[in-house]
Amino acid sequence: MPSLPSLSEMSAREALSFMRRKIQTLTVIYADTQDRITTLLMSGVPQTAAQQARMNDILKQVNREIVVLNQQARAWAGGAAKEAYQKGMDITSQTLSQLGYTGSGVNFGARMHVQAVNVIADQMTADLLTANGSILRNATRFVRSTQQALITEGEINRQIIGGLIEGKTRRDVSKLIERRLMDQIEGGRLLTINGRNYQPRSYAELVARTRTREATSRGTVNATTQAGVDLVQISDHGTDTPICQVYEGKTFSISGGHSDFPQLDRMPPFHPGCWHAILPVIENVLIRRDEYDQAVEASNQDLTEAQKKAKQKAA
Ligand SMILES: [Zn+2]
Repeated sequence: MPSLPSLSEMSAREALSFMRRKIQTLTVIYADTQDRITTLLMSGVPQTAAQQARMNDILKQVNREIVVLNQQARAWAGGAAKEAYQKGMDITSQTLSQLGYTGSGVNFGARMHVQAVNVIADQMTADLLTANGSILRNATRFVRSTQQALITEGEINRQIIGGLIEGKTRRDVSKLIERRLMDQIEGGRLLTINGRNYQPRSYAELVARTRTREATSRGTVNATTQAGVDLVQISDHGTDTPICQVYEGKTFSISGGHSDFPQLDRMPPFHPGCWHAILPVIENVLIRRDEYDQAVEASNQDLTEAQKKAKQKAA
């Protein structure tokens, strides 16, 4: 794909790195909680009645950890969503003024922005609370299994039916499951999402990174619309990722109503860890720089199905 000149590489880079500290704050919260819960759970398998009582106490403490973690996650999400979104708006203002745009301005007070931030904060919170719920379930399962020194019949049957374990007695199976659970907890992989085990700290970082980037892109696009501009560009760093190659360096119409440019049907990040950014661009600037035809040609290659459909509808 012929690469378009980057309009504002500095702001693209800035957009991607500025949330680093905020993301770190959440990662540290989860790392600390993870360490405390792992230590609690590994503090001993009960043999006596006194130790059993101690395990119940551990469960209560884990519960308290999760209650606090839920509050922290909610508070973090509210702040991070707003900050990341506003960054997107700032990038829009800066880029538009660099391009010499003198149309309407951008202001955060508008209803559309407040609503958008709330939606993003709710998504972030939901992701984190789901994760926290999984930590609690795994921890409870672990404590119960060590307490009773046996795994539920249902679990054993699932594993046998699933063909995971053959030719072993129920007792062996129970031991094997317990061992697996023990390894998982010992490794700090306290949480399970879609069948995969994660350390809370890495999962929190993944959620924070992905969701704050989404917020920044959303802030950029909404502010661009508010300023009365319809075109945006995706940054270009010569990616090897197929899912990003479809969008990289291209110019899109936010409304989908432009006669030359395809509709923006997705915005970065296109996958976890994606480094692409989105920036506004002015049609007249492209024309003045003699880049318009090249941009139209490049942007209409390898259209997605949604874009093809939108184009047919407009025609
Ligand atoms: Zn990417």
